[in-house]
Amino acid sequence: MKKHILIVPGDGIGQEVTEVGKAVLVKIAEKFGHEFTYDEALMGHVAIEATGNPLPDETLEKMRNSDAILFGAVGHPKYDNDPTAKVRPEQGLLKMRKELGLYANLRPIKLFDELLGASSIRPEILKGSDILFFRELTGDIYFGEKGRKNDNNTAYDIAEYSRYEVKRIARKAFEAARTRGKRLCSVDKANVLETSRLWREVVQALAPEYPDITVEHQFVDAAAMMLIKDPKRFDVVVTANLFGDILTDEASQIAGSMGMLASASVGDSTGVYEPIHGSAHDITGKGVANPLASVLSAALLLDISFGLKEESEAIISAVDKLLKDGFRTRDIADATTPADKILNTQQAGEELLKRI
Ligand code: NAD
Repeated sequence: MKKHILIVPGDGIGQEVTEVGKAVLVKIAEKFGHEFTYDEALMGHVAIEATGNPLPDETLEKMRNSDAILFGAVGHPKYDNDPTAKVRPEQGLLKMRKELGLYANLRPIKLFDELLGASSIRPEILKGSDILFFRELTGDIYFGEKGRKNDNNTAYDIAEYSRYEVKRIARKAFEAARTRGKRLCSVDKANVLETSRLWREVVQALAPEYPDITVEHQFVDAAAMMLIKDPKRFDVVVTANLFGDILTDEASQIAGSMGMLASASVGDSTGVYEPIHGSAHDITGKGVANPLASVLSAALLLDISFGLKEESEAIISAVDKLLKDGFRTRDIADATTPADKILNTQQAGEELLKRI
C-alpha cells in the first residue's frame, strides 16, 4: 500500500515521542511491504517562534494533502503562565480540528494486564476494563462565543450544539458499539443544561435504529464516579467536548499512565492520531517520556485511516511483549521494577522495534 504520512511533533515531549512513533511506522512498512512516505510540519509554540502563527498555512496545506497525520502535542509554560497572551499554541489545535472537520475523538482505554499495579485503582476493580470513548471535538463551550463584559469583571463562554453535530458523533458511537460489547453509555448533564437535553433527545431518537445496542444515559457527575468505582460496566461512551476532555483524563488512570493512551481524531478529511498527554515540560529534554502512547497512536492510524488491522495488531502485540518482558519507562515503573528494566524513551523505542 502507498500512503503519505505527515509527522507533526509539536512541542516539548511531542518531539521525543513522535520520533519513536515514526520509527515504528517505518519498521511496519518494511516488514509488511508497504510504501509509506513522510513529511514533517510545525505547529504550536515552535510554529509561533518560527512564523508567529501556531498553525501556519503551510502546515495546514500539508495536512490536507496527506493520508494521515501522526501528531505529538502542543504547549509551553510561557503561555500556561500568561493567560493574557493573544497568540497561543492551543489555538493551533482548535483550528486544526475545525479546518479538518475532526468532529470525533476516539480514545480507547485498554489496560495491559502487566500494568494492573501501576494504577492507583485496585487491580480487582480494573482487570478486564476496556472502554472506547467518543468525545465530540468541534462544538460545545470550546467553540462558542467567549468574552469579557462589565469592565472586564465578568467572563463568559457559550456552549452550543446543533442536532446535526450530536447525531453524527452519536451515530459513530452506535456503529462502534456494534463491533464491540453492544453497550452504549451517553453522558450528559440533561438535568441542568439545555445543550445536554438536546443531546439526550438526539441519542434517544437514534436508538431505535440500533435495536441490538443497549443504551444508557448517565449524568456526567455520576459517570465520573462510576468510572472509578466500576470501570467494567462501560463499553462505548459518547459525550460532549468538555465532559469528554475531563472524563478521558480521569479514565487514563485505568490504563496506568497518560503515557499509555492514544487517540484518533476523525471526521471529514485526514485523520489525526496523537497521545492524549500534553507537551509535559516538567520532563522535556530528559529523555524519560513514555513513547508508547505515540506508538499506540501509530497503531490506531494504521487501523482506522488505512484499514491495516494486522499491522496495527503487530504494534499492539509488540507493546504487550515489551511489558510482559518486564520493561518499563519511569512513569509506569514501580518499586518492584529492577533498575536494568527501566528504559528511557530511545531505549523503549529500540526494544519495541526488536519485538515487531
Ligand atoms: P501533560 O499531559 O503534558 O502532563 C501531565 C503529567 O503527566 C506530567 O507530570 C507529565 O510529566 C506526565 N506525562 C505526560 N505524558 C507523559 C509521558 N508520555 N511519559 C511520562 N510522563 C508523562 O499535561 P499538563 O502538564 O497539564 O500540560 C503541559 C502542557 O501541555 C500545557 O502547555 C498544556 O496546554 C499542553 N497540553 C497539550 C495537549 C495537546 O497538545 N493535545 C493536551 C494536554 C495538554
